[in-house]
Amino acid sequence: MSKEIPPFRVNGIISLEDIKKVNLLPPEERLKKGPVVLIECPEMIPCNICVSACPFHAISMDKIIDIPRVDWDKCIGCGVCVSLCPGLSIFVVDLSKEDKALVTVPHEFLPAPKKGDEVTLLGRDGKPLGTGKVVKVWERNKTYIVTVETPKELAFEVKAIWVKK
Ligand code: SF4
Ligand code: SF4
Repeated sequence: MSKEIPPFRVNGIISLEDIKKVNLLPPEERLKKGPVVLIECPEMIPCNICVSACPFHAISMDKIIDIPRVDWDKCIGCGVCVSLCPGLSIFVVDLSKEDKALVTVPHEFLPAPKKGDEVTLLGRDGKPLGTGKVVKVWERNKTYIVTVETPKELAFEVKAIWVKK
């Protein structure tokens, strides 16, 4: 019997539907409370760095080849796991504000963004979605962890930023 191949295996683009299927989309009630992790890692790969990266023990896996599981109440949206995921597959979303979303993405290009910069927001396919304002930047092991203010409807679509020179 042949198994259906998920489209992301063919085109490399993970969709929100793929994330929902593996229970990695934060529940609506949790999203309203403030920043929370969004792990986009729907394939069982031999990696569990995010498990030990989280200072709050919010991520777990039964074995090294598994889908990460999140305890939504333990996650405070600190972004430490964003800085350490080798696949750049982890983000933080904050939908607690009325009019804007805050999205935190990893960034490994130069120039480094600065607080206050207006940057291009890039989507799942790497194409521009619009512009956003950088509200926070920190760095760990040469990865910049960048929080940008985005329109609310783009909260789950912004996956990277491009810094205008
Ligand atoms: S954002 Fe912070 S608290 Fe949440 S899972 Fe990642 S490291 Fe843990
Ligand atoms: S560290 Fe990143 S790539 Fe590795 S299991 Fe966690 S989310 Fe997936």
